[in-house]
Amino acid sequence: MIMSEKQDNVNSLFLSEDLAKPLEPDSRAARFQQALQKRVTRAKQQTHSITKDSLKGFLRRNAFVIFTVAAVVLGIILAFALRPYKMTYIQVKYYSFPGELLMRMLQMLVLPLIVSSLVSGMASLDSRASGKMGLRAVVYYTATTVIAVIIGIIMVVVVHPGKGTKADLHHEGKIEKVQAADAFLDLIRNMFPPNLVEACFKQYKTQYSTRVVQKPVVPTSAATDAPLPLENTSSILENVTRALGSLQEMLSMDEVVPVPGSANGVNALGLVIFSICFGLVIGSMKQQGQALKEFFDCLNEAIMRLVAIIIWYAPIGIMFLISGKILEMEDLALMGGQLGMYTLTVIGGLLIHALVVLPSLYFVVTHKNPWLFISGLIQALITALGTSSSSATLPITFKCLEENNGVDKRVTRFVLPVGATINMDGTALYEALAAIFIAQVNNYELNFGQIITISITATAASIGAAGIPQAGLVTMVIVLTSVGLPTEDITLIIAVDWFLDRLRTATNVLGDSLGAGIVEHLSRHELRTSDAETDSSVTEENEKPYQLICQDGEPRKHRRSETAM
Ligand code: ASP
Repeated sequence: MIMSEKQDNVNSLFLSEDLAKPLEPDSRAARFQQALQKRVTRAKQQTHSITKDSLKGFLRRNAFVIFTVAAVVLGIILAFALRPYKMTYIQVKYYSFPGELLMRMLQMLVLPLIVSSLVSGMASLDSRASGKMGLRAVVYYTATTVIAVIIGIIMVVVVHPGKGTKADLHHEGKIEKVQAADAFLDLIRNMFPPNLVEACFKQYKTQYSTRVVQKPVVPTSAATDAPLPLENTSSILENVTRALGSLQEMLSMDEVVPVPGSANGVNALGLVIFSICFGLVIGSMKQQGQALKEFFDCLNEAIMRLVAIIIWYAPIGIMFLISGKILEMEDLALMGGQLGMYTLTVIGGLLIHALVVLPSLYFVVTHKNPWLFISGLIQALITALGTSSSSATLPITFKCLEENNGVDKRVTRFVLPVGATINMDGTALYEALAAIFIAQVNNYELNFGQIITISITATAASIGAAGIPQAGLVTMVIVLTSVGLPTEDITLIIAVDWFLDRLRTATNVLGDSLGAGIVEHLSRHELRTSDAETDSSVTEENEKPYQLICQDGEPRKHRRSETAM
């Protein structure tokens, strides 16, 4: 009897009419237990769904990064699994084809992306704000490049990887000669392309040709050539004969002269300068320039949507790019010895700059966690490692900065294309370090003045280097010629350059991205003012009464908001 009463109470636990009844001590305990149980079950369900949801969310948010990291790992495993089969050069080329496609897709977007982002970015800021932002960016680029060069010099002087002789190293490839002065003038010439269409696929590059010049032969002995005293007719005649003889000795000689020439590749510097000026002018035209501004805004948006599609293919491309390169490597033993020491010195320098100097600078300026910022860039950094081209990585860098790190588009649109073209910390560090390494293997003692010359030319060479694979190796000729080092010795380090190029490209991309974060932080006041001005002008516009002509010909007043309806 008692049991059935208890049972009744338990059964009616969740019936509302029971709540009104006074509770028996037993039934109260049972209710409490049940409620507790229910709560525990609900909590369990909640935790389950939270972890499931958050896991799903995490996977969705980081899908690209996870795919890309997996692609790198898979690529490395695949390459080492295939290496024993000793594929031929042609087979490796076919194998790398999917990677080549990714490179081509990214490069396809670079030109419209640089132009549209710079024009719309510049047009959306007033000249004062863009001037301040530009100044901050230039100060950042200069400071970080100089620091990178100093790190490179300290590393190579302290580690001294160039012990031993050149005979221990093996030569590979050929190097084209360039004069430092001509290379510097080419850099300035390329800033002003005479033909914008041509600038999309060609750059100015001084070539050298020989021309025939007439040069008098310098008399060999002063005694025989000294004019005779004009005492008589015979001595006059002799003088004339001698003069004629020396005229005949005008020799035809070959002289190497610089002549105008061109090299294939986008003249990014010229397009950047033009787009900045064009954007500034459009911005200053206010309402009149609105149509062009909207056009470039829209173009930029459309390109970014294409990037969002291509990004799905990126992991596959990166996998084949990386594994293809590992398969292409001829002899891993080359990386040992002196060249191995040199490789480690470059890696050390790049790591110090990328993982210590740049994050510290970001932290000091913004007081924000640099690692959180860098974690948003993983995909761009891996793409840089895969493509060894900072300009091909540009579309992905844009996406990472704007979507993962939430950097203001007005900043990325200006800082990123300019940075990808002229700010190359990794390349600057590498060029200074490699030049001193070449001096060391030649047992060439560099004095302080020469080290300063190397620093300046390495900075200029990094500005002049295009954001394409191994561009730094080409511009290094300028650094070497400036201090009289043999340029053909660049061939000593070509064997490891494919690898170091990837690391310096990733450093270049990191430098540009952290620069965008720093410039955004420093420009926050101008950006806010610009936002406020835009808001107020939109409100004013919305409040302006518009006169519309009615069909009956009578003017009719109403507001823009009404029109929008
Ligand atoms: N590959 C590098 C880049 O694209 C340039 C270099 O060769 O250092 O940033």
